[in-house]
Amino acid sequence: MADGTTVTVEDLVAWIHRFSEVITEHAEELTQLDSAIGDADHGTNMRRGCRAAVEALEAAGPEEVTGFGRAIAMKLISAVGGTSGPLYGSFFLALGTAGGNTPELDAAGTVAALKAAVEAVQKRGKAERGDKTMLDALLPAIDAMEASLAEGGTLDDALAAGTAAAEAGMTATIPMQARKGRASYLGERSIGHQDPGATSSYLLIQVMADLAQGKKQS
Ligand code: ADP
Ligand code: MG
Repeated sequence: MADGTTVTVEDLVAWIHRFSEVITEHAEELTQLDSAIGDADHGTNMRRGCRAAVEALEAAGPEEVTGFGRAIAMKLISAVGGTSGPLYGSFFLALGTAGGNTPELDAAGTVAALKAAVEAVQKRGKAERGDKTMLDALLPAIDAMEASLAEGGTLDDALAAGTAAAEAGMTATIPMQARKGRASYLGERSIGHQDPGATSSYLLIQVMADLAQGKKQS
């Protein structure tokens, strides 16, 4: 991200550190959202998971993308309760595997790794677009990033487009009826509330875009 064209392992680690701060800032809001259509633990789950991920990265000191993804994934799968822990765990494991044994990704490699991560969430959770889950933020974000790169955009452009699409996708969960996860037990009563997981996923993409933007300017 240093020059707006690449993402280093240090950038990825910084992403998780910043995401952990942002999750702490938003923990109450995430729990509020989950109290409307779930069991009021998404903020707590995410905070616990992020802390564990930060500690795992400090302990592992990964030097390539695969190690980065693996360190986080193992912790998320074990440390975060609920549905979201294993799903985010799958996300990071696949991101690492797709990224490979390299200290740095270019723009296309970054978007490809993020895409593999989102596909892993889809494979594990078996949710589709419109089921009112984190995928409703993540899938449009990947589409927008790919479109941006295809139009000649830089990594910063792609991440900015991805963030805007994730935000729109997050908001679009409000009128949806949940078809996966705890919220689906509510049937029609899940309509009218923003999905907590789509909200944390939007934040994840937004933090990466913000870091890319900040680094370019510094
Ligand atoms: P739990 O639902 O077990 O309490 P969390 O509250 O931490 O776990 O996470 C809830 C979020 O998990 C939901 O808002 C939704 O975005 C996401 N989610 C639930 N089931 C699935 C699924 N099958 N696929 C993708 N995301 C899912
Ligand atoms: Mg919950």
